[in-house]
Amino acid sequence: SNFAAALENTITPPVKVEHTQLLINGRFVDAASGKTFPTLDPRNGEVIAQVAEGDAEDVNRAVAAARKAFDEGPWPRMTAYERSRILFRFADLIEKHNDEIAALETWDCGKPFEQSAKIEVPMLARVFRYYAGWADKIHGMTVPADGPHHVQTLHEPIGVAGQIIPWNFPLLMLSWKLGPALACGNTLVLKTAEQTPLSALLVGRLLHEAGLPEGVVNIVSGFGTTAGAAIASHMDIDKVAFTGSTDVGKIILELASKSNLKAVTLELGGKSPFIVCEDADVDQAVELAHFALFFNQGQCCCAGSRTFVHERVYDEFVEKAKARAANRAVGDPFKSGIEQGPQVDSEQFKKILKYIKHGVEAGATLQTGGDRLGSKGYYIQPTVFSDVKDDMLIATDEIFGPVQTILKFKDLDEVIARANNSRYGLASGVFTQNLDTANRLMRALRVGTVWINCFDVLDATIPFGGYKMSGIGREKGLYSLSNYLQVKAVVTALKNPAW
Ligand code: ADP
Repeated sequence: SNFAAALENTITPPVKVEHTQLLINGRFVDAASGKTFPTLDPRNGEVIAQVAEGDAEDVNRAVAAARKAFDEGPWPRMTAYERSRILFRFADLIEKHNDEIAALETWDCGKPFEQSAKIEVPMLARVFRYYAGWADKIHGMTVPADGPHHVQTLHEPIGVAGQIIPWNFPLLMLSWKLGPALACGNTLVLKTAEQTPLSALLVGRLLHEAGLPEGVVNIVSGFGTTAGAAIASHMDIDKVAFTGSTDVGKIILELASKSNLKAVTLELGGKSPFIVCEDADVDQAVELAHFALFFNQGQCCCAGSRTFVHERVYDEFVEKAKARAANRAVGDPFKSGIEQGPQVDSEQFKKILKYIKHGVEAGATLQTGGDRLGSKGYYIQPTVFSDVKDDMLIATDEIFGPVQTILKFKDLDEVIARANNSRYGLASGVFTQNLDTANRLMRALRVGTVWINCFDVLDATIPFGGYKMSGIGREKGLYSLSNYLQVKAVVTALKNPAW
């Protein structure tokens, strides 16, 4: 491949790993067991650092700290303005440490440094400023009930939140979880993904530098079946928020119901349609569909992973999509101009190659790619399949990699039915200049987000979440606050109803 050269001479990341311990009660501490696990560089599989491995006992310690900070600590009792100011100061510190945070993110996760530094870390600051702005704007209502009663609602924090996040956007997923929880006055225990524990620990230190009281945010690195399951089944956690696979989402819901019926929000998998209509400017459609699928090495729960193309533009689209993918700049994510780095780990790498094999065996046409790139690390060639049929595994399952699947359609009724024929309902893309077509699709698609002539617009203000097996609840925006609030009705008898 033309990009094999870009994989030579691995660049030394411009950052040192400072924090590898668990962050409990405002201090970095070893795991109770003393155990550690290696976090790996996806460019070559080498160990970046040994990280403290939290398990159930560490989750207990973290929950105890969060409980104390909630029940006794200053956080829920501070004025909302004070909480808001701490979050604003934190956002300033994120900006001050922009490149350091971005380099850790790229090193651990494999995504292009330019993307980490110019998009993700700035978005991290933006999300926290958004929620800092909410802190002093959350309030209840008065209610016009019948009878001689004064009725009001208090919007109170829910208590201790447990939050479990994945590895594809370690920082953004952290911000979507921490932001609303903190703005509403909760305390929390966050479990990062075992593939990407590093950036959260640095960010956790900065939160405390910004003035966050101890015990409010506790960060436990560790594995799902130990630390993660301990969070989902903990009797003293009031709410659990999870982002990850649909299979694990089901386990979380089950553990929550078997333990203390903690409130649950889930953001799960997807197989989002990207629909290119017959009036499309093909060059623009190809570019947007390419971005919708290949962004972040294809590791997006909302990836446009079923590219439906109208038969009138199909042949031209396939030719150009193939050329675009073959031109994608893959290489060491620390090099400039790189669009795609390695996949996060060997498990994902193998899973993607298996799906590619399935696609070939099922009879889809492999237009470009189809194999690993280079001989070390987890790089995969940008891959495009055409002639994909709805029931092929590559069209029904979440591949979570740089594999575009192109399907042909004839008319709108047909594509609506096929797009909706999925267990998932996370997002969708619509590409058309026709207002009636856009309106029709926007209403007919059973998904949490419809992007019309755009994709992956993930602004802090916009609610995000899934229909069907893509999840329960919404993150970001106004809607996210209700995940972290209890509503208390207060009814006071009036002595003299006529005042
Ligand atoms: P992926 O397949 O993308 O790695 P997962 O759903 O397996 O997604 O992981 C997302 C997060 O859920 C990670 O933090 C992982 O450690 C955690 N996790 C995995 N299994 C469990 C489990 N049984 N209970 C709780 N958390 C889990």
